[in-house]
Amino acid sequence: MFSSKKNHDRREFLQRSVFGLASFGVLGSGQFEKPNFDRKKIFTSLNKGEDSKKIGIIICARYESCGGGKCLRSVKEHVGGFTLYPEDISLDVVGFGQCGGCPGVNVEYVPEEMKKNGAEVIHLATGFVVGYPPCPYTGYFKNFIESFYEIPVVIGTHPIPMKYLKAHKKLSSINEIKKVAPYLLDEDRKIMIDYN
Ligand code: SF4
Repeated sequence: MFSSKKNHDRREFLQRSVFGLASFGVLGSGQFEKPNFDRKKIFTSLNKGEDSKKIGIIICARYESCGGGKCLRSVKEHVGGFTLYPEDISLDVVGFGQCGGCPGVNVEYVPEEMKKNGAEVIHLATGFVVGYPPCPYTGYFKNFIESFYEIPVVIGTHPIPMKYLKAHKKLSSINEIKKVAPYLLDEDRKIMIDYN
């Protein structure tokens, strides 16, 4: 159980950061003071005594019935948002949860559970950016988790399926994907087709 003081602090932090500013239409990123993560080291080396990198995955609740097949496959194949980790680093999923539905109240809680299980990095699933429309809170969630829980966040899990890429190219939402997760657009097209 969480202490009520911690609950209050977390809620106040999230409300001030996400809902307060979001309600004024200020959805950019960079409003928070974030810990200075050594990202290169976090992604490319293991903690002493560990034989795998522990990760947590949060999915968009619009896909809450998803079985997680694409995300788990991409963990194994080191593609999409997992390209960052060298092939010889094993990845271990220690937490899998969903945001709780708009505007994402579970984002307050699930990172704590994941951290307790040893998560070193949290991935916001690719569904955040390829849903129609992309989640407007994605950048905020990343900043909130990194600032409040002091754990690095990667936007993206599995490669963008080609059929989604084609649809977004006809929509202005492709610009949102370019803004928050441009590296997902660099994926090999054959892999994108394979993830359809
Ligand atoms: S659009 Fe964003 S806030 Fe809404 S359900 Fe999906 S991830 Fe959660």
